[in-house]
Amino acid sequence: MWLLKRKRKQLLFKQNFRGIPTHACPCGSVLLNVKCIFEDGEIVMWFTEAECAMCGALLTAPTPEDYRDAEV
Ligand SMILES: [Zn+2]
Repeated sequence: MWLLKRKRKQLLFKQNFRGIPTHACPCGSVLLNVKCIFEDGEIVMWFTEAECAMCGALLTAPTPEDYRDAEV
């Protein structure tokens, strides 16, 4: 029962960190849930709309384009 209450509380206070592409959630987790498309066994496209796998916070997934300027 306490677990259900805790889950409900987590859903009510779902953090929103969308806007800045990130590799990790502020909670410390680097595991993200994203929607993606596979082709020949490889990921060819993914949505930037991501969710932390640990705390459920809403995040923006990174793309290679986000780091292109930083490398030059
Ligand atoms: Zn998190």
